[in-house]
Amino acid sequence: MNNQDLLNRSLAAVWHPCTQMKHHETMPLIPMQRGDGVWLTDFEGKRYLDGVSSWWVNLFGHNHPRIKAAIKQQLDTLEHVMLAGFTHAPVVDLSEKLAQLTGLGHAFYASDGASATEIALKMSFHYWRNMGQPSKNKFLSLQNSYHGETLGALGVTDVAIFKDTYAPLLTQSAQMPSPDFRLAEVGESADAFALRCAQRLEDYVAEHHAELAAFIIEPLVQCAAGMGMYAAVYLQRAREICDRYQVHLIADEIAVGFGRTGRMFAFEQANIQPDFICLSKGITGGYLPLSTVLTTDRVYAAFYDDVTAKGFLHSHSYTGNPLACSAALATLAIFDSDDVIGQNQAKTALMNHKMQVLADLPIQHLRNQGMIWAFDVKTEQRGFASAFYQQALQQGLLLRPIANTVYFMPPYVINAAELDFMVETTRRCLELVL
Ligand SMILES: *Cc1c(COP(=O)(O)O)cnc(C)c1O
Repeated sequence: MNNQDLLNRSLAAVWHPCTQMKHHETMPLIPMQRGDGVWLTDFEGKRYLDGVSSWWVNLFGHNHPRIKAAIKQQLDTLEHVMLAGFTHAPVVDLSEKLAQLTGLGHAFYASDGASATEIALKMSFHYWRNMGQPSKNKFLSLQNSYHGETLGALGVTDVAIFKDTYAPLLTQSAQMPSPDFRLAEVGESADAFALRCAQRLEDYVAEHHAELAAFIIEPLVQCAAGMGMYAAVYLQRAREICDRYQVHLIADEIAVGFGRTGRMFAFEQANIQPDFICLSKGITGGYLPLSTVLTTDRVYAAFYDDVTAKGFLHSHSYTGNPLACSAALATLAIFDSDDVIGQNQAKTALMNHKMQVLADLPIQHLRNQGMIWAFDVKTEQRGFASAFYQQALQQGLLLRPIANTVYFMPPYVINAAELDFMVETTRRCLELVL
């Protein structure tokens, strides 16, 4: 198969995500042939370091022997069975394991992150309805939040380029000031700013709690907003406020779960327990689509009834797919056997040191949380993100800046030489593009 041929057939037959297809008249697609560790290889044999973990899903690199073996083994016994009326070992094992890790339970499955958001929102509303409070039917989220692209998820998302077009279709929700510390006043600490934002949250919730079902939040890092990071104290205050006014707290850990922020889950860093947690992306190590929502016994109990309609009658055809659950079990087994969280701490320290070579460039807000690094480039150049992206690809590095924010979210298996390559190549690209 030839490169050009595959490229043209793709443009004719495939509608690519998050893309103005006309841009591909000037910006070619890259047909990929294989992946190995942090590297992707195209049909001409050129290698690219996957600095964004293939849109934040790949935790342990491509072509991982243990995850592959688990999927193959499951494939020989049971590829799929519907989960209404039936069950199977991988889904039970995974649900037990996730409950043990999160302190929540009753895992409800879907296949992508946006569906997990939908499920959490519906469950929260339905809980209040089952409890005789149907007027608690509105949602809160943060400014610049991202919770997915389906209509319900987009309703609580606050990214104009994704949302504005569809505004007439969306359920209204309110957005609270974001504690993203880039927005702090000069001289204000991240904690002080977070507390100031939390006060605004409290003022709003105090006034509107009678109609509020839930506050949905991306713990510690608003990734799609350009890796906006904030102090954990905001989550502590949000938990207190939600408790005081009887509003659910939904932790959308779709991007930050599974070690990305330096702990297994970001909410652990605030020592809080959410009412719902949404997980996806890294859950299968980037192998198969899977998402889940976990919740409390209390929420679960409100649905447990003789009346059918009080149950959560939501479903997706592939709910709890055994192959995806096996991939997730293999992924979690790697965390257990390889001390991933501990190993990552050393990588974080190493990378923070290496990042200093960027400090004299025209950048600001050089920041880090666990295995995420980001900085904002000071430029008026409108096409910066696209110019940098293309320059980096030419140099064998896959990064995808969000507006002026360049970020690194590599697979955890990245080694010291590969970190060097990533940082040095970034420096060179910035010099060429700016
Ligand atoms: C990616 C993402 C989603 C949506 O997940 P999809 O699988 O793309 O639908 C939701 N929330 C957050 C925080 C995300 O990063």
